[in-house]
Amino acid sequence: MIENLTIENFLEKLKNKEFSAKEFFEKLFEKIEKEDKEIGAFLSLNKEGAIKEAERIDELISKKEKLPPLCGVPCAIKDNILVEGLKCTAGSKILENYVAPFDATVIKKLKEAGAIIVGKTNLDEFAMGSSTEYSAFKVTRNPHDLEKVPGGSSGGSAAAVAKNFCLFSLGSDTGGSIRQPAGFCKVVGLKPTYGAVSRFGLIAFASSLDQIGPMTKNVRDCEIVFEIIKGKDPLDSTSVEIEKKFEEKKEIKVGIPKEYLVEGIEPEVKSAFESAVKKFQEKGVKFEEISLPHTEYALSCYYIIACAEASSNLARYDGLRYGNFCEGKDIFDTYSKTRALFGKEVKRRIILGTFVLSAGYYEAFYLKAQKVRRKIKEDFERAFEKVDLIFTPVSPTLPFKIGEKITDPLKMYLSDIFTVSVNLAGVPAISIPIENLPVGLQIIGPHFSESKIFETAKLYERN
Ligand code: GLN
Repeated sequence: MIENLTIENFLEKLKNKEFSAKEFFEKLFEKIEKEDKEIGAFLSLNKEGAIKEAERIDELISKKEKLPPLCGVPCAIKDNILVEGLKCTAGSKILENYVAPFDATVIKKLKEAGAIIVGKTNLDEFAMGSSTEYSAFKVTRNPHDLEKVPGGSSGGSAAAVAKNFCLFSLGSDTGGSIRQPAGFCKVVGLKPTYGAVSRFGLIAFASSLDQIGPMTKNVRDCEIVFEIIKGKDPLDSTSVEIEKKFEEKKEIKVGIPKEYLVEGIEPEVKSAFESAVKKFQEKGVKFEEISLPHTEYALSCYYIIACAEASSNLARYDGLRYGNFCEGKDIFDTYSKTRALFGKEVKRRIILGTFVLSAGYYEAFYLKAQKVRRKIKEDFERAFEKVDLIFTPVSPTLPFKIGEKITDPLKMYLSDIFTVSVNLAGVPAISIPIENLPVGLQIIGPHFSESKIFETAKLYERN
């Protein structure tokens, strides 16, 4: 029954007592327990907690009390976002037994809104990856083709929505981790403007790039969840209130960056993108070619900055304060035994990050990357003087086979080529499914233009 529901019609049916929250959740868990065996979207389930919460919601309804905006709505949470009392592993052996002592701000807001957490979803270790294959625990399979990856790092969250294990999920996006899996699994995913959503309680990967965002079945649901989780939070000093209002314009002008439709992009992706553009044109959207001249440096710039920040953020996992502890013969031995629990990809990034921050190399790599980052940001600022939004494909390829890129990290990094610039510039972008293919259309807007992005994305859904 969840298959045909969006958030809004779920709420309506629940209020009209077409089903009780309790019976809905009992059936939902039956479905998950059966179907997730072959998908592997979840790392842990919150069955007992969810059913108890559903009983509370049923009571609210029977007492005819005022209902919260996400009353009883089932959701799944990426396992790098803290939910009090539940395990939070970040897909890593080092946090295998870590239980979150408090709620992330986004979770607090969702709980206050009445949403019910079904479980925690699989991810690449510490959100480093594009396929979930770097998870220490399991690989999630793409619900549309079990041989293929669901994308990553929020692959579990994307698969959970695609398989109707929930009505929405939360992911995190440092360089594409919400948008790319959303594209691969044919769902909607938003990377909000940097600072629009609190990061308090998100296990940090690269703090100047990380953002939490919703993954949903359609654009309206994405907007609903974003409205609940956004806003300034005293516990995250980088968070802000969105105040900017975009004037209603009749005509939307969209730029297509010429640097994005070049070689290396799969023909199916290119033709799906072009058909989507045509559909927008029929709805009156105007297109023009633009240039984002520093695009070719985005990946190198991203991997230097992301690894540098990760090496610093991950220094806290020493076994003494968080997670697993492996005792050695002295302090050095203890650290190295404990930190040996990190997977290969995480170690690679810690080493790379430490290197680019070390004396003698700092100026040549890290500082240079920061300067390039500024140029990339300026590319977007210049473009947005001319156009309202920018359209690109989300990734250059369709979902790849499980195992295909795992031995070649550079190939894996290339799947982020269209998404990382957005994080470097701090602007918002949505991924929406197009042409019934597992590839997303990316709609990028200026800082805090989420409402404009939603409004435009909805044009595609309206037939
Ligand atoms: N795939 C990218 C990486 O490996 C992005 C990850 C993310 O956005 N968390 O860094």
